Amino acid sequence: MRVLITGGAGFIGSHLAERLIARGDEVTVLDDLSTGEVRNLDAIREHGRFALRIGSCLDVELTNELVDRVDMVVHLAAAVGVRLIVERPVHTIETNVRATEVVLAAAAKKQKTVLIASTSEVYGKSAKVPFQEEDDISLGATSRSRWAYACSKALDEWLGLAYQAEKGVPVTILRFFNTVGPRQTGRYGMVLPNFARQALRGEPLTVFGDGRQSRCFGHVQDAVEAVVRLMDCAAARGKVFNVGAREEVSILELAERVKAACASSSRIELIPYEEAYAEGFEDMPRRIPDTSRLFEAVGFRPETSLDRIIADVLADQRGRLTGDERPR
Ligand code: UDP
Repeated sequence: MRVLITGGAGFIGSHLAERLIARGDEVTVLDDLSTGEVRNLDAIREHGRFALRIGSCLDVELTNELVDRVDMVVHLAAAVGVRLIVERPVHTIETNVRATEVVLAAAAKKQKTVLIASTSEVYGKSAKVPFQEEDDISLGATSRSRWAYACSKALDEWLGLAYQAEKGVPVTILRFFNTVGPRQTGRYGMVLPNFARQALRGEPLTVFGDGRQSRCFGHVQDAVEAVVRLMDCAAARGKVFNVGAREEVSILELAERVKAACASSSRIELIPYEEAYAEGFEDMPRRIPDTSRLFEAVGFRPETSLDRIIADVLADQRGRLTGDERPR
C-alpha cells in the first residue's frame, strides 16, 4: 500500500513510518519540521520505499500532489503539547483546523482513506471514568487557552466525520491518550520525558499541582500497532476510537517510579499550575480510556506495562544527554 503520513517526522509518525516500511508499504512523509526532526527517520531515510517531503499540509498544491499519489493518508501533523498550546494559541488553532481541511479536501477528490489523529484532550473537563467515544465533551471557557487545542481537534473530528457522511470519504478518527516512548521530547511539556531527563541529570522532578492528578501512559509501539490495525480495518471507517493504556498512575507516583527506576537522588518539587503554565490554568484530575471499541474492532489494546515504558524512556533520554550531563 502507498501511505502518506503527515507529521511523519514527529514522535508517533516516525515510529509508524518505520513500522509501515518494515511491513512492505511505500511511505511518504510530509513534515514541516516545526516539532518533528529528520533524525527521527534515520533508520529508514535511505530506504527505496521511503520518501521525505519537507513542507506543510497548509501548502494546498503540495498536499494535493502527495495525497493524489497514495492509497491512504494518516494525518498526524498538528500542534501538540500543552505548553505549546498555552504559549501559541493562534498557531495551534490555525494549524490544527486548516491542515485537516486541506488534507480532507485533497482526499475527497479520489475518495482516499484518511486516518485522523485526535486526542483524549477532547473529553475536556469531564470527570467521567473511563471515557467512552460517545461521551459528551465538556470544554472550559474560551478565555482558557488550553481548551483551544481540544476544540480545534474536536472540530477536526467533526470535519472528518462530515466528509465521510456527506462526501463519502472513508475516515477513521483516533483519540490518542497519553502516548509516550523513545523520541518524545520534553520540550513541549510532556511529563514522562521531562521526569526522565530531570532524574538522570539529578535535577528536581517538577510535579505540577499536588501531583494527585492521574493519567494512563501508553507505549508508542502499542499506539502504532493500533494505527496499523485500524488502517487495515474497513469496518473502522466513520468511527472514533480511543487509543490508550489502562494502567492509571498519579503524577506524583510517576515521579517516584522514574526516580526509583534510575536510582536518582533528585528531589521532587511541587510547582503550582499558575507558575508552570499560566494564571487560571485548568488541569483534568483523571483521564482513563475505555478501549473496548478498539478491541472489538481489531482485537488489540495497548497493554505494555508502565515499568517497561519508564525503562524505555529512560534509555532514550540517557542517549540524549550530552557528555557534560551524564551522571558520573
Ligand atoms: N506535568 C507535571 N510536570 C511536568 C509536565 C507535566 O507534573 O514537568 C503534569 C501535567 O500538569 C499533567 C500531567 O503531568 O497533569 C500530564 O502532562 P502532559 O503534558 O504529559 O500530558 P496531558 O495529560 O496534560 O496532555
